[in-house]
Amino acid sequence: MPPPAPIAPRVLAAVRSAALDALAVLVPVTCVGCAAADRAVCGDCRLALLVTPRLVERPVLGAAWAGLEYSGRVANAIGAFKDGGRTDAAGALAGALGTAMAAALVGVPRGSVEVCTVPSTADAMRERGYAPVELLLARRGIRSSRVLRLARARSDQAGLGADGRRANAAGTLRARETLAGRRFLLVDDVLTTGSTLVEARRALAAAGGSVAAIAVLAETPLRRSVGAANARDGLRDIAAQGGYGGRTGVVDPPFSPG
Ligand SMILES: [Zn+2]
Repeated sequence: MPPPAPIAPRVLAAVRSAALDALAVLVPVTCVGCAAADRAVCGDCRLALLVTPRLVERPVLGAAWAGLEYSGRVANAIGAFKDGGRTDAAGALAGALGTAMAAALVGVPRGSVEVCTVPSTADAMRERGYAPVELLLARRGIRSSRVLRLARARSDQAGLGADGRRANAAGTLRARETLAGRRFLLVDDVLTTGSTLVEARRALAAAGGSVAAIAVLAETPLRRSVGAANARDGLRDIAAQGGYGGRTGVVDPPFSPG
């Protein structure tokens, strides 16, 4: 018997869309971005989640690539995804993270680069039941290298200033093993002052590893973004390399399996 003809992606998308509509009728769903009675992410909010990756800078941390600005619909959607149990928004957010990661890797010398995330606290895992960043990465077919662990508890960062956050984060992470010669793309969800990522980089370096680049889903705009032009250049580079848009959305260098 001949193998079944492949189904065109557009047909699949239409079927999926119809199934989502049917589901929305059966189970009331509100949009994570604007609370409209619609799908998990309505059309307008899906547009808001389309990314222009931006290069941002923070004192001490340095440069990082962010997929989105943490405000408005985007902030609502990320909040609902992280702390409201709305894992149905993962698909829409995973694209933004993947694009930031691709932008961050442009210009990184070739060779193996592993993805490193900040481990969730036990309390956060218990409350959420999932690790938000790992879930987004999984949507792009990426698994992070679980090389960091919490060395001591850190308190909630909310309400702390830059100095307070740095003191709160210092010494909270430790590498599980020696990391000599290994390079990492540091990935996190929301960049505020960057204190968590500074601590992650310190812990990687203390074990002999290095950070090749940093990518976050969204940044809280504390100061003017340094890079609209850079972002455009980055996108052009990505397009030129033809590396974006594949299954993982990540350009060369390939990630080594975690
Ligand atoms: Zn919406």
